[in-house]
Amino acid sequence: MSIADNLREVRARIALAEERAGRAVGSVQLLAVSKTFPAEAAYQAYNAGQRLFGENRLQEALEKIPKLPPDAAWHLIGPLQRNKVRKALESGVKLIEAVESLRTAETISRISGELGKSANILLEVNIDHEASKHGFSPQRLREEWTLLTALPHLEIRGLMCIPAPTVDAQQARPAFASLRLLLEELRARGPYPLSILSMGMSHDFEVAIEEGSTEVRVGSLIFGERSYPAN
Ligand SMILES: *Cc1c(COP(=O)(O)O)cnc(C)c1O
Repeated sequence: MSIADNLREVRARIALAEERAGRAVGSVQLLAVSKTFPAEAAYQAYNAGQRLFGENRLQEALEKIPKLPPDAAWHLIGPLQRNKVRKALESGVKLIEAVESLRTAETISRISGELGKSANILLEVNIDHEASKHGFSPQRLREEWTLLTALPHLEIRGLMCIPAPTVDAQQARPAFASLRLLLEELRARGPYPLSILSMGMSHDFEVAIEEGSTEVRVGSLIFGERSYPAN
């Protein structure tokens, strides 16, 4: 199967999940996660109509962004060290998805202010309370919401999560459902519309869509198994 075939199949499965969930077809965005694959692989996806790409590491994003046409959009989905924030903001990355602490959010706001911009970010939530994971605990996010939303040079566009690994995708359903509830709770507090709920990967994106995901991040189903880790 080619990358174009894989993409067609993933898009068809997204449409079926949208229908099953009673959601408008086309309401879920597909982020093609090209990490560890060469720019040519991302280009094949581009030629098959894909425009939204995700990279884990800033360095890898910086290498690929200039190799694709300028209407490709890139999201950074891996953790961003504070000393790389300036580079990330200057890189053309559209959305920084894995902002995991107030401290990082403050750094992004400060530097984007210096650059005369406003940065689009998602906040990463450690929804399963895993000790090894990055991200805000739900409780900490509630406590720090007022401080986060007061940061002047940020647009908080929504939340993202990577649930604990599961054998059966159905096991991730409660985590996805609780991230959606947290999003709704924070949306009610204002001031942001929080239109992006980034959740679901190759093995569980359909369950994530059924639980309200608006952006699924799919890598291996499109590009194949990764032969070396991205982190
Ligand atoms: C690698 C990665 C993905 C894609 O994972 P697949 O299982 O290959 O679909 C999605 N989100 C994040 C944050 C990732 O690091």
